[in-house]
Amino acid sequence: MKYGIIGYSGRMGQAIEKLFSKAGHKLVYQKDENSEKETEKPEVIIDFSLKEAFPKTVRVIEEKKVPLVIGTTGLDEDDFAKLDKLAEEVPVIQSFNFSIGINILSELIKKVNQYVDQDWDIEISETHHRFKKDKPSGTAIMLGNLLDRDIEMHSKRLGSEFGEHEVDFASTGEVLTLKHRAYSREAFTRGALLSAEAILDLKPGFYSFPEILNN
Ligand code: NAD
Repeated sequence: MKYGIIGYSGRMGQAIEKLFSKAGHKLVYQKDENSEKETEKPEVIIDFSLKEAFPKTVRVIEEKKVPLVIGTTGLDEDDFAKLDKLAEEVPVIQSFNFSIGINILSELIKKVNQYVDQDWDIEISETHHRFKKDKPSGTAIMLGNLLDRDIEMHSKRLGSEFGEHEVDFASTGEVLTLKHRAYSREAFTRGALLSAEAILDLKPGFYSFPEILNN
């Protein structure tokens, strides 16, 4: 597959290139805040950059008309409306977390949510490396949206932590904790690779990562 990366020089961009090249794919397009290089037309573009880059990503996809896998966090409702518009023309796979474990955690949270009533406290805590800009993390927001009430979120920015998410459910007599920890960026790049390989066979439309995982 010939692919491009937006956010090429970033931590995720570099980890994506490493895994994709190991899988035999060819990087033909790369974009950063102040540079852009194309050697051939990509068949798919992977965006792991920043929210500020998003308007440019939309322009690139409109011009090139290629499928998009996007993991950039911090996107808001307007950005999702733009992704929906792009998805009328090309397939788009979006997730705030491309790790398989987090997507299993999501299923577990939905299950526990069916059992706990208003007497239970629910809080989400997340820890990420010191360079992460958005707070709370996109994943914490995504997990929070699975619950049928607004909940308290706690964020820590510490050292080199790749990403830890914990959901606590507590009544006055007991506490149930669901926890996921990524201990390498491969947790996310594997999901991005799976998505980029799957997207080549998809029709235009907006797809979530669980839809790709469950197929
Ligand atoms: P980083 O700061 O290391 O890299 C950011 C990249 O974005 C750089 O290459 C930079 O040049 C580029 N960039 C910044 N502004 C730009 C602009 N205006 N135009 C074009 N490019 C621009 O960040 P990172 O740690 O690699 O994380 C990148 C993104 O991926 C973040 O949004 C992060 O939250 C997200 N992330 C998502 C997942 C997931 O599974 N969805 C997992 C980890 C990280």
